[in-house]
Amino acid sequence: MSALSNSLAATDIASTMHPYTNLRQHEATGPLIIARGDGVRVYDDRGKEYIEGLAGLWSVAVGFSEKRLADAAYKQMLQLPYYHTFSSKSHEPSIRLAEKLVEMTPEPLTRAFFTSSGSEANDTIVKMIWFMNNGLGRPQKKKFISRVKGYHGITVASGSLTGLPGNHRDFDLPAIPVHHLTCPHFYRFGQEGEDEAAFTARLLAELEAVIEAEGADTIAAFIGEPLMAAGGVLPPPAGYWEGVERICRANDILIISDEVICGFGRLGTPFGCQKYNFTPDIITLSKQITSSYMPLAAVMFSEPIYQAIADNSAKLNNFGHGFTASGHPVATAVALENLAIIEEKDLMGNAARLEEKFQAGIRSFADHPLVGEARGAGLIGALELVADKATKRPFDPVGRAGAVANRIGHEEGLIFRSIGDQLALCPPMIVTEDDVAEIMARLGRTMDRLPAALA
Ligand code: PLP
Repeated sequence: MSALSNSLAATDIASTMHPYTNLRQHEATGPLIIARGDGVRVYDDRGKEYIEGLAGLWSVAVGFSEKRLADAAYKQMLQLPYYHTFSSKSHEPSIRLAEKLVEMTPEPLTRAFFTSSGSEANDTIVKMIWFMNNGLGRPQKKKFISRVKGYHGITVASGSLTGLPGNHRDFDLPAIPVHHLTCPHFYRFGQEGEDEAAFTARLLAELEAVIEAEGADTIAAFIGEPLMAAGGVLPPPAGYWEGVERICRANDILIISDEVICGFGRLGTPFGCQKYNFTPDIITLSKQITSSYMPLAAVMFSEPIYQAIADNSAKLNNFGHGFTASGHPVATAVALENLAIIEEKDLMGNAARLEEKFQAGIRSFADHPLVGEARGAGLIGALELVADKATKRPFDPVGRAGAVANRIGHEEGLIFRSIGDQLALCPPMIVTEDDVAEIMARLGRTMDRLPAALA
């Protein structure tokens, strides 16, 4: 380790608190300091090369060295580095991006509201819906329906919508009225003797029963990721989303498709709702919107929602919500350039074309003695590690096998994300066929070494 990286690592340990980290363990092991990026690869401060198999945090569509995004940011910074969008102020990049997103997203969505993160976007949705329903004279219609293992962020409201114990425990969440339904993951939540169709029917019956018990007039919206990503890459069972849509429509419950990961082609369709055949009233977008070169998220929503909020803002003389950085000109300029690159390079088409090869690569690990399930859709996949394949018994403690796999992966030059004992992959959308083959080769060497490392 160089003197510089030694001192940087020591300074990191002494002066930062990392998100999503066992902080005591971090004090002992120190950080992995990433120094630069090039295409689908990143390099640490000692020059070691890694394929970024998770595209950072499921987000860097165009890879780690896209100069056009740096140029777009520089140009915008010279022209207008900052301006806000409060009280009718505006600027061209945010206007153009809103127009572009309305054009790209499915039919009923006609409006955009910008935030800096997916969590802020989902918090905004909660507040928009409450504000709307108060304005419409139905103040009791406030509850949300979400799912166990759903991920919608970590702020107080979005963290409440999230259905992962690690985001609730000791954070005093959920703090808003939300009901978490059974996770739609057949491998883990399907019951003895139940096939996938019966599983779907049971989940839909549960949704109907919750609506019946709570009263449809108290439930504002259903929120879900088309494919649950951060919960472990969990594609829904066949017919699930069509059923959810039918039930929500029959009960006047809005549908929010949280596409922070699934959006912009990740699943092989422009948006995840198109992959699974449902039409949301609201879509949350972030991550690949700027390839994470700048922090940005967008709430896309339908005209009736806008009209109801606008009416209430007229009544109260304000829509009293917004962030200093809502529609930030540099972030929105970078998003416009990023979306232009995605279109010019046909990266959504690339994801669709490579889906078969990528999914075949993931599923080639299904016979590995430690893999309970190999799954995914589009350019996103996961291996679920188990202690006993026949009984699906998880490792004890949960997470150790994933952490060991992660360490070996790093040694083999592959970064993926271990979610407990689930190994998630979601490479940049610029990947080539050769890159996919190399990712699978490195994953293969990792999996070959894993049994001995766990013994
Ligand atoms: N929604 C989904 C589906 C996500 O995957 C994430 C983050 O991974 C979020 C919301 C929260 O986004 P952020 O981390 O930008 O707050």
